[in-house]
Amino acid sequence: MQHSKGSKVALAFSALVFIGIGIGVFVGARHFIADAALVAHTHEVIGRIDEIQARVLDAESAERGYLLTGSEAYLLDYQISVERVPVLLSNLIKAVADNPPQAQSARTLEALVQRRLSQIQRVVDIYDQQGLEPARAAITQNAFRTTSAIREQALTMVNVEQAMLVQRAASSRRSADLLLGLALAGIPFGLIVVVSVYGILLSELNRRSRAEQRAASASLQLSANLEQMERASTDLQTLGRYTGLLQSCANPEEALEITARTLEALLPDTAGSVYLLRASNDRAESIVSWGTPQVETAAFLAPGDCWAIRRGQPHLADDLRRDANCPHIARPAASECVATACIPMSAQGAQIGFLFLCGPGPGPLPRLAIAESAMEQLSLALSNLRLRESLRLQSIRDPLTGLYNRRYLEESLTRELARCGRRALPLSVLMLDVDHFKNFNDTQGHSGGDALLASLGQLFSSRLRGEDIACRYGGEEFTLILPEADGVAAERHAEELRLAVSQLSVPFNGKTLPPITISLGVATYPEDGVAGLTLLRKADAALYRAKRTGRNQVVRFDGHLDGAG
Ligand code: GH3
Ligand code: MG
Ligand code: MG
Repeated sequence: MQHSKGSKVALAFSALVFIGIGIGVFVGARHFIADAALVAHTHEVIGRIDEIQARVLDAESAERGYLLTGSEAYLLDYQISVERVPVLLSNLIKAVADNPPQAQSARTLEALVQRRLSQIQRVVDIYDQQGLEPARAAITQNAFRTTSAIREQALTMVNVEQAMLVQRAASSRRSADLLLGLALAGIPFGLIVVVSVYGILLSELNRRSRAEQRAASASLQLSANLEQMERASTDLQTLGRYTGLLQSCANPEEALEITARTLEALLPDTAGSVYLLRASNDRAESIVSWGTPQVETAAFLAPGDCWAIRRGQPHLADDLRRDANCPHIARPAASECVATACIPMSAQGAQIGFLFLCGPGPGPLPRLAIAESAMEQLSLALSNLRLRESLRLQSIRDPLTGLYNRRYLEESLTRELARCGRRALPLSVLMLDVDHFKNFNDTQGHSGGDALLASLGQLFSSRLRGEDIACRYGGEEFTLILPEADGVAAERHAEELRLAVSQLSVPFNGKTLPPITISLGVATYPEDGVAGLTLLRKADAALYRAKRTGRNQVVRFDGHLDGAG
């Protein structure tokens, strides 16, 4: 703004100077032309005076020639010269009319010339009438005086004109000097103005182009912001819908499936997997995956194998070839650039799992914030589902032993079989029954029997791994589900339980109840059956055989027992 105001003042000043120079040149040129005209006029006046003198001299010499020779040719010359003189005199008078003293002098000259011409005419007339001698006598002293007077008068006039000529030449020189000065000052000044105007225009152009660039980049920024806002708004809508869906999920599996579909849509070009920690907290397991991962990640892992779980905060690797990555992630091929992110999930202050993401690097992977928001929602939903589950569990537990009831057994057996089936892992079912419990009741009383059943419940609970499920099948019969345990492992486990029960001492009413024994039957998925009811039936057949063949023992199902069941 300041710059532009200064430019205007400079331009106005330059214009004023140019106008001044223009006026100066105009006035100087006018003066110069006028002076030149006056000089020419003076030369003309001098020329006319000289011509008048010349004509008078011509007339005099023609007169002399005529007198001496009597030749008519001289007379003709004389007449021609005399005829021109009046015109010349009148022209001279007109030429000096603007200068009264010179006009007066011109009239004096005219009178003298006329006088001299009439003297000559008189002599010529006398010659024609009376001959040479009288004519020579007529040439008087007066003739010489008149001629001298004419010469004097002409000289005076010429001197006056010469003096004016000097003055006019000086004035003309001054005008020329003024013009020269104006030219000398005007040309460099004009150059300076042209250069300055060029500079001002250039800087103005630069300023405009910078302003245009700024405007263009601001407009780009604006449209980028708009795009970002539109995307953020779409993301928020998607997240809102996701949260709504999570709230109506009946179980964690559904919630995880919805999470997979939502993150697949929100994070294109990114593969992902949700890991959940098992109840025992000893292992994290990939429950759901989507996209095509560029690197392998373990399906099962120790919690310490993921930095996000260890540190409780997101762990990002922008380029796996360079950055420290979690041990559960395989190294990519040397040519591949892969970026990964592990985002932890926690509920009520406890870690419950993490989200693994991978995509083309170098990272960071785009839009991680939205993935983190989704994980917060998922953690909340899982925590609510677990709360709901624990309330449900309270309704499916047997109050005497604290173990699950039969309804829950059937439900969870189906679920665990499906899970192990997906992972191609075995699963074993243990059926066990207290030996001669009727006698025990009879001797120790029903409440003694109850105390023993409660102690057995505690024993089973304490002996089982986190993912094992113990149920009271009915009366003094129990069923244990051992996911991932094959027949050999299950038999060993059953044997340990049998031994532990035989060594169990239960205090009751100030005394210790007598020891009891149990019999156990084992059936294993998939070799003994794939359906839950089949496995239960086969475990029961094995238990029946254990009872029949002496009790206090473990029997694994084999094909021969089928008929016996
Ligand atoms: P075995 O299994 O070795 O063949 O002999 P058993 O005496 O255990 O046989 P049976 O299955 O016939 O007897 C089960 C007894 O368990 C009958 C019943 O009184 C007792 N019983 C069932 N439920 C309860 C209970 O909730 N509390 C108590 N105290 N006794 C129970
Ligand atoms: Mg029994
Ligand atoms: Mg029984």
